[in-house]
Amino acid sequence: TYDVHIIGGGLAGSEAAWQLARRGFKVRLSEMRGTGERSPAHQTDGLAELVCSNSFRSDDDEKNAVGLLHHEMRQCDSLIMAAAAKAQVPAGSALAVDRDVFSAEVEARLSELPNLTIVRERIDTLPESGLTIVATGPLTAEALAGSIGQATGADSLAFFDAIAPIVYRETIDMDVCWMASRWDKGETKDYINCPMNKEQYLAFHRGLIEGEKTAFKEWEASTPYFDGCMPIEVMAERGLDTLRFGPMKPVGLDNPHWATPEHPNGRWPYAVVQLRQDNKLGTLWNMVGFQTKLKHAEQVRLFRTIPGLEKAEFARLGGLHRNTFLNSPVLLDRQMRLKSASHVRFAGQITGCEGYVESSAVGLMTGLMTAAELAGREWQAPPRTTAMGALLSHITGDAEAESYQPMNVNFGLFPPLHDVKKKQRKEAYTARAKEDIVPWINGLAPAA
Ligand code: FAD
Repeated sequence: TYDVHIIGGGLAGSEAAWQLARRGFKVRLSEMRGTGERSPAHQTDGLAELVCSNSFRSDDDEKNAVGLLHHEMRQCDSLIMAAAAKAQVPAGSALAVDRDVFSAEVEARLSELPNLTIVRERIDTLPESGLTIVATGPLTAEALAGSIGQATGADSLAFFDAIAPIVYRETIDMDVCWMASRWDKGETKDYINCPMNKEQYLAFHRGLIEGEKTAFKEWEASTPYFDGCMPIEVMAERGLDTLRFGPMKPVGLDNPHWATPEHPNGRWPYAVVQLRQDNKLGTLWNMVGFQTKLKHAEQVRLFRTIPGLEKAEFARLGGLHRNTFLNSPVLLDRQMRLKSASHVRFAGQITGCEGYVESSAVGLMTGLMTAAELAGREWQAPPRTTAMGALLSHITGDAEAESYQPMNVNFGLFPPLHDVKKKQRKEAYTARAKEDIVPWINGLAPAA
């Protein structure tokens, strides 16, 4: 018998298991690899395999949000961060690891815990009872994904991410752009609109077609595009005006910056790029319909040719991958529990966070939530001003459910510090977080 069943021995599942077992709870950790079966991206049977890059990104905890997340996780005795320290290889200010040493270290440390049982087995259905953490990742095996889809409703589980770039609001030039909804009479100014004239549009269209793209992986290529997530460059290839009848449609959008005595409300541009609010704080805005396979450097170069976005900074760039994830803001409560089946928690990338570090951090928090529930203690979320708290708030309710797509940790998720000069803001965010995390950590039940 066990207290918690964790499904998936990747980054999130391993971290959650560590946090729970070290607090004295009995854990069964089920991992499908080792039974002869693997996801198309995994190549070994080791726990916490890094499927692609060997980097945990920036380790700078003064100016970088993911570096700050490293710092906070270390304070919480993170297994993933400890194994990364053991496996570290030189990579400048980034934290990179030898992936085999890293995975072996995670597995060795978990194997030493007497109340943790690692079972190589594939789970095909959501357990009907008993505390469960599902941490099966972006490539959750098919039968379990089907079972999750049944429990959550078909529309709430995505099998592809279609990520439109996300821009920091404060880097958009509002002397060029304007707020308006299509055909609005001044009531609902929901979108930020970037106007293009014909020449700008034609150059932009050419840039989309000629720009360098990332190829689909073999196993991704067989998945057809879904409605509403066709890459912008594929749409551009269908015809010169396809975008002007699609996401770049200008009709009903009077640009007040182009007002004349004859046209006091302004004129419609030749084409328009629209941005929609992406989080409740209003700090992040997504480029509507701009999911893309363009290479990241190419996206930055091309999207900065859009009028008003010349100085845009991107919280994340566009992408399109196979990726199983839940519409967490709708489906999960603030403790990562499925609202319709509260014995089941989710952790890791399947919740719609993005990245090794973020997935591990969500695993860590989910482990702590489960530990609190088992001990009959009230769970306190980390403060919103910390990287862990900001990420958790985003996933469990602050993100806009309609446009919910996987998200890296970034300063746009933090409550803004408008009073601090822009140049000093990153340091101010990290300083505030480092102070605020301390009392929260002191309030956690200690590990054995
Ligand atoms: P995983 O690490 O994938 O762990 C899930 C585990 O569950 C796996 O071990 C799997 O075998 C197991 N499992 C699945 N289904 C079942 C089942 N039914 N029963 C039992 N076990 C099951 N992030 C980065 O930061 N950098 C990158 O370079 C990067 N590259 C990526 C490349 C690809 C191709 C993909 C798909 C994702 C990439 N990511 C990257 C994103 C993401 O951070 C990683 O996928 C990360 O491993 C997610 O952690 P996780 O614990 O949620 O899932």
